[in-house]
Amino acid sequence: MSHNLNIASIRGDFPILNEVVNGKQLVYFDNAATTQKPRLVLDALAGYYEHYNANIHRGIHHLAEKATSAFEQSRKRLQAFLNAAHSEEIIFTYGTTDGINLVASSYGRKFLKEGDEVIISTMEHHSNIVPWQMLCEEKGCILKVIPINDQGELLMDEYEKLLTEKTKFVSVVHVSNALGTINPIKEIIAKAHAVGAKVLIDGAQASSHIEIDVQELDCDFYSLSLHKIYGPTGMGILYGKRDLLNAMPPYRGGGEMIKEVTFAKTTYNELPYKFEAGTPNIADVVAAKFALDYVDALGKANIAAYENELLAYATGAVKEIEGLRIIGQAKEKVSVLSFVIDGIHHQDIGVLLDQQGIAVRTGHHCTQPLMNRFNITGTSRASFAVYNTIEEIDKLVQGLHKVKRMLR
Ligand SMILES: *Cc1c(COP(=O)(O)O)cnc(C)c1O
Repeated sequence: MSHNLNIASIRGDFPILNEVVNGKQLVYFDNAATTQKPRLVLDALAGYYEHYNANIHRGIHHLAEKATSAFEQSRKRLQAFLNAAHSEEIIFTYGTTDGINLVASSYGRKFLKEGDEVIISTMEHHSNIVPWQMLCEEKGCILKVIPINDQGELLMDEYEKLLTEKTKFVSVVHVSNALGTINPIKEIIAKAHAVGAKVLIDGAQASSHIEIDVQELDCDFYSLSLHKIYGPTGMGILYGKRDLLNAMPPYRGGGEMIKEVTFAKTTYNELPYKFEAGTPNIADVVAAKFALDYVDALGKANIAAYENELLAYATGAVKEIEGLRIIGQAKEKVSVLSFVIDGIHHQDIGVLLDQQGIAVRTGHHCTQPLMNRFNITGTSRASFAVYNTIEEIDKLVQGLHKVKRMLR
């Protein structure tokens, strides 16, 4: 695989990469937690507040119309990004977590009943575990979990055994934030549909690396966060099939989501507004469009090819470090490198790397059940984005050698 990206020029688009941390130029390897934002996203945020900040949909003055139009353009942009059939299938949320809670609360409360089964997997983020546990507790449903192998891949045979006519919902992650595993979601979706279950895909990690076509996947719901795709924090979208969203009750009540309110009865607005109560995160929604434009201009295939080069290089390089074990060695994976080192606590690794200006994430990565599966309490995780370089990976490897010298 090859790419035609000019990495030096890309780095120039991200002002934060010039930061100096503990006397060293920042090496930012915490991209699976959140990516940095290119200049055009920062300019879009400032531009909104400087020139057309206004509340949307309700005003008829110039600024309100301009803000509303930019807001709705972002919805169309996200529709295109996921190849959704209709723009009203794109619901603005506060992020992946919020979208999953919307579905568990609204679809789950209305359509699931006692004894129904919900399937998730061992490698889910807490945000795709806890909402389903809350629902199951409330409704008397049963939560089943797809096991994984030692490489960190789903056991598809076991998944098939879990599927029965009792299965009403399957909710799985597209790409694992802790392992990097890319799951075969098309197959997962088709098999769930064969028993009549609906499927939600947690796309928080996938959306920055993989081309997503919700019509081709045929998923019922897809939830993602823009802050992991070079966009702003605190916003995301939930994609849902129109018929399902229409059949679902509102999730939150308030302004914007209503058609008419009297004390006797309230009627609800149509899609997508039925699910967007209150003043949304307008500035960040507006700026999100620019993040997607940036990603598409580089080309996701180019980004993925370059990130795979970084991952292959880093994987080879850290294997030279004695006592280091990579957690997550799936055949299909994105640029996430999780590892443990014998006799050294992950937190110490994080602190000592930070002293060298290198930002990695340490801990359980909001996947405690997954850590339990590997009999560890956490890992150190370096996750790569399009602005990272081979030289930075060399610094990481040198940094890890230094950590070992200091602690042994
Ligand atoms: C980050 C992440 C989430 C949660 O996203 P928020 O933006 O915090 O809501 C969920 N699932 C996965 C796989 C993630 O990486």
